Amino acid sequence: MSTLKDRIIARIKAEGPMSVAEYMGICLLDPKHGYYPTRDPLGSDGDFITAPEISQMFGEVLGLWALQSWTDMGRPERVHLVELGPGRGIMMSDMLRAANLAPDFIKALSVHLIEASAALEAVQAKTLGDISVPVSWVSSLSDVPDGPTIIIGNEYLDCLPIRQFIQQDRFAKAAGWHERVVTLTEDEENLMYAVSAEPISDVMQQSMPAALSDAKTGELLEICPAAYQMLDQIKTRFTASPGRALFIDYGPETTEFGDTLQALKRHEKVDVFSDPGNIDLTARVDFGALGEFAQSLDLTATLPVAQYEFLSKLGIEMRAAALARAKPESKAKIARQLERLTGEAQMGQLFKAVCFQSTGLDLPLGFRSFNEPS
Ligand code: SAH
Repeated sequence: MSTLKDRIIARIKAEGPMSVAEYMGICLLDPKHGYYPTRDPLGSDGDFITAPEISQMFGEVLGLWALQSWTDMGRPERVHLVELGPGRGIMMSDMLRAANLAPDFIKALSVHLIEASAALEAVQAKTLGDISVPVSWVSSLSDVPDGPTIIIGNEYLDCLPIRQFIQQDRFAKAAGWHERVVTLTEDEENLMYAVSAEPISDVMQQSMPAALSDAKTGELLEICPAAYQMLDQIKTRFTASPGRALFIDYGPETTEFGDTLQALKRHEKVDVFSDPGNIDLTARVDFGALGEFAQSLDLTATLPVAQYEFLSKLGIEMRAAALARAKPESKAKIARQLERLTGEAQMGQLFKAVCFQSTGLDLPLGFRSFNEPS
């Protein structure tokens, strides 16, 4: 049994059941035994693989996206490029290589990385060891100096802890929601789900999305408070200075019910309680809820677009063709990588991009339209 599992069991014995968000947060980020702080989980030898790990083309076209964003912002003399959850630092390294096309942009840049894992921070420092722009690690967005900002996060939102709620009595509407919790099995040796006997608090009831008031009994809803906190911080920042924040992740365009917390180990799905601290836990990103929350903050947002459309508008096919011309022996491999990133049955449709920005900027490259209030 993992040490972290023992510690979680001991804590539930002492303090009672914990929320799914607490469980997810401890499993992923406990400094001593959590998943991210104790390993490099990425790549084909790891537990999961991400777009920048599949191909350099992904980071390169995002570098051009960042360059275009800087241009849209009026080419400010200084611009902060912030990455949330940079993994092994590969995407940033590919972005900066592409941005080298524009020396004025490179000159204006300072890079800030927000990373919760000391182990991955060390890998990022190595990957970005010989780049020419200043790089610093900060613990939150508020530690980034004031000024124009471009924020980017790939597969960052999906690892933020989610809370889960189950509708126990549809006729009670908002008062029918009860939080799902993590508790002990009867023999007190394993973990399992339970539903809190008490309905959620009045304050929580008021913050449940109104559109979901017709949820049927038994329906499960996920909410990611940390994503909302991030949007709050972004709004504050973009009120003071121009900025854009791009998120790419997996999930539906509009809110859907259902339990999406999943655990991965060596590219296979496993039980979420099987090995706390040694398995990756993520949940689908609810782009619909993010858009609604942005509207409530009066933060300009685009409608989400599918990854294939976004990358295609950024010119990824042309980049693939150029790479294949330069390296004819790798042509088939490059075509396979492009298919993994943009194929409908691969990442192309399930993954979405969404952008939040300060008022007054044009529609960002790669998107179709803003998310207008309905
Ligand atoms: N963006 C990278 C890595 C994705 S994995 C890529 O696409 O390859 C998720 C990343 O987010 C890891 O670097 C992980 O350590 C980091 N992370 C997870 N939770 C975080 C949090 N709350 N704050 C900052 N970083 C976090």
